[in-house]
Amino acid sequence: MPEYAFKILAFVLLLVYRVIRKVWEHRLSAHLKQEPVVVRKPLRERLVLGAMGVLMVPWFAWVIGPWLDFAHVPVPDWIRWGGGVITVLGIGYFASTHRALAHNWSPLLELREGNTLVTGGPYRLVRHPMYSAGFVVNIGSSILSANWLVAAGLVAGMLVVYAVRVGDEERMMLDAYGEQYREYMARTGRLAPRLSAVLGRERPDRA
Ligand code: SAH
Repeated sequence: MPEYAFKILAFVLLLVYRVIRKVWEHRLSAHLKQEPVVVRKPLRERLVLGAMGVLMVPWFAWVIGPWLDFAHVPVPDWIRWGGGVITVLGIGYFASTHRALAHNWSPLLELREGNTLVTGGPYRLVRHPMYSAGFVVNIGSSILSANWLVAAGLVAGMLVVYAVRVGDEERMMLDAYGEQYREYMARTGRLAPRLSAVLGRERPDRA
């Protein structure tokens, strides 16, 4: 399979991902225009989004030109197609988290009037399924690219979000929802379900 086929596929998949986000930004525009009642570290949060953009530069360079070919990793085509399938699954998962969060979604750490705690659908067993979906999409896209520089940028982008944001996001939710969020934390995992939840066992010691 020629390299450009993988590049076109990667481009189309990113486009689908971006369109899903744009549709939700459009649907929620009235709610997002409301002044938030809680805002956490807005400047740092903007820097995190900026850093994610910068870390995507290798991906863009790989899609549009030959400059990053030196970082190509020779893997069989079927593995790269597998990366495409993982990306598609991740995009579906991402769409389902947007649907479940609805008006509670925000690009930054913010809460607005009328926000509620979502604990159903993809949020039933996992507290940050949208970030899990981001990891799945970026890992799938890394495999699809078969390029270590692209992979390093994509995975680092998600690690930055995870390392910098999640702790403060959970503190914000604890302050806003108190005991309800504490109980929710006790039965869920951050990016993947707790083993005890999967095995159907109670873990009162973790509550
Ligand atoms: N961390 C979540 C959501 C990312 S969007 C995930 O990965 O799925 C970030 C915004 O979502 C935050 O500003 C917060 O207000 C909101 N949020 C996070 N978890 C939520 C939940 N369980 N219910 C409602 N809103 C939530």
